Amino acid sequence: MTAFVYQCSNCGRRYRRDEVRYLCPLCARDYRPGIPLLGVLSAQFDYAAIRKQFSKANPDWSLFSAVEEKFFPPVPVGNTPFFQTATLGKQFGFENVWIKNDGLNPSASLKDRASFLVVAEANRLKEKTVVTASTGNAASALAAVCAAAQKRALIFVPETAPKPKLVQMILYGATVVPVRGTYDAAFRLSLEYTAQRGGLNRNTAYHPLTIEGKKTVGLEIWRQNNWRVPDAILVPVGDGVIISGVHKAFCDLKAAGLISRTPRLVCVQAERSNAIHEYIESGIYRDAADPNTIADSISVSVPSNAHLARKAVLESGGFSITVSDDEILQAQGMLAADTGIFAEPASSAVVAALKKLRGSGRLDREEQIVLLITGHGLKDVETAMRDIQLPEAVEPTLAGVEEHLEHLGLRRQSAATTALSKSGVALRLSRQSKKKGAR
Ligand SMILES: [Zn+2]
Repeated sequence: MTAFVYQCSNCGRRYRRDEVRYLCPLCARDYRPGIPLLGVLSAQFDYAAIRKQFSKANPDWSLFSAVEEKFFPPVPVGNTPFFQTATLGKQFGFENVWIKNDGLNPSASLKDRASFLVVAEANRLKEKTVVTASTGNAASALAAVCAAAQKRALIFVPETAPKPKLVQMILYGATVVPVRGTYDAAFRLSLEYTAQRGGLNRNTAYHPLTIEGKKTVGLEIWRQNNWRVPDAILVPVGDGVIISGVHKAFCDLKAAGLISRTPRLVCVQAERSNAIHEYIESGIYRDAADPNTIADSISVSVPSNAHLARKAVLESGGFSITVSDDEILQAQGMLAADTGIFAEPASSAVVAALKKLRGSGRLDREEQIVLLITGHGLKDVETAMRDIQLPEAVEPTLAGVEEHLEHLGLRRQSAATTALSKSGVALRLSRQSKKKGAR
């Protein structure tokens, strides 16, 4: 760990590590539930010390950590795959598209990174209970890391949270409190709970170490990319903490003199949950009136980290874009069939955005573009099944198989291996035909 202070993102005041726990006390006085958080803190390290000690030959990542390694929970988080896609980007006219697949974390989402660091902090502070509100992923992540660290996770979720995520939390042993209303209601209730009853609050952005935890994905991209900075990173945005974390990673590296520029960040939101997008475009903040998208992980009315997220995008020289639910569902199928990655709808939004950006001139054909996949598709199978018709069983005879293939228009692909390799095509065909029928 390197020495650090917390700096308020609103007023710039600095605080010693144990002087504050959540927000800047002065700016938080103006905060009231129902608006984005004010006084979100950012850890500012001794960058000269990092520069002196960091070596690419033997990288010590704990230099960038705001909690000592001895407090880390015993569960491996991060180090997820980073690779170039062979076909996906080319379909849309981009030659150099890479994927960071953070759906392969222990609880199957990037949010494990934030939970990991906050639970490490709970270890340091000897807090036995960690509390959060979440649309699902942050809660499953907290439940998983708390299980490994033998802590109590107390979780407030909107009653509409997808069942697989609830099942995850309960299996991990968390105490789950479904709340009537939206994520924002669950968020408010969790703040009230920790203020009155104690425990460490892990709410995203509210606890500054959520941003620090999420920044590790940016540090990893830099290392896995042979210490080069990508040109652009497309990030699914709900609350705006992941995109701030990614930006923070590259800002830390730049402040330590290890890189000379930061990547352009593209904020990707769902059309029906677009508060940060509108804020970036117009400079005026307004809540998303009816956050109602199939991409539940990025469905937020009042994004808690709206101010820092907007700043990250603008500072990086990036921009914002929205995609519709239909575009997200279509992109989910394309990503799966072209790369083997089954991503949840929120993550599929970045693929939909890339497709939409074809020919727009906002991204260059040859620049290195990274798609950040933040959650696994198995977390929300119900949504993925909306446009899919599962094939019916056949008689266990070759004739039965032939009949089935004929039905799918694949009669001449008779070898068993071909039939197997085409099963994905079959699903896609039935997905398409069902779609056509629906229209
Ligand atoms: Zn302040």
